[in-house]
Amino acid sequence: METLVVDHPLVAHKLTTLRDVRTDSPTFRRLADELVTLLAYEATRDVRVTEVTVETPVSPATGVRLAKPYPLVVPILRAGLGMLDGMTRLLPTAEVGFLGMIRNESTLQAETYATRLPDDLSGRQCYVVDPMLATGGTLAAAVQFLFDRGAVDVTALCLLAAPEGLAYMDKVFANSGKPIRVVTAALDERLNEHGYIVPGLGDAGDRLYGVV
Ligand code: URA
Repeated sequence: METLVVDHPLVAHKLTTLRDVRTDSPTFRRLADELVTLLAYEATRDVRVTEVTVETPVSPATGVRLAKPYPLVVPILRAGLGMLDGMTRLLPTAEVGFLGMIRNESTLQAETYATRLPDDLSGRQCYVVDPMLATGGTLAAAVQFLFDRGAVDVTALCLLAAPEGLAYMDKVFANSGKPIRVVTAALDERLNEHGYIVPGLGDAGDRLYGVV
């Protein structure tokens, strides 16, 4: 598995405000959205394209367009929804599938409660969006789900990652033979006893959408 921590002053600046406990939900949502577009720029570096020719006012020009089958963006509900618009702004022709997963707070295991994805993902590049890579249980289950349906490679975009989550992903997919990338704005220190990322930013879903 490949991990990319996007090292850029604008990313660090936005992330700092995102972490701040005083940042309200509307600002948090806007910043998360802005951060995703910056992460997506790096995360889509290997997106498949096909060569095309267009006519400029002056002459033919060779360029590229996103290749079919178009990439699939998969937000993990609920917090991943806060990253969806930023992704589709950059990849307007991408299709979107939904995966509802919740972390059981006693076992810290991922449980799937909703899926809305094509049955056949053969040949598809998938981009999973989930703000927090904590234990890695949810992301590993999501990535496995996509591989089981035929996805060729999976890139996960996370606002924050914990070393424990990355290590878990590495362990689970060590022999998968499939390309997996994690692109994140920061690699934090550790998880606390409740499975929260330290220093982190708290509960991403609650900060985006309020406590339910
Ligand atoms: N999920 C969150 O929203 N925050 C964490 O710190 C860990 C998991």
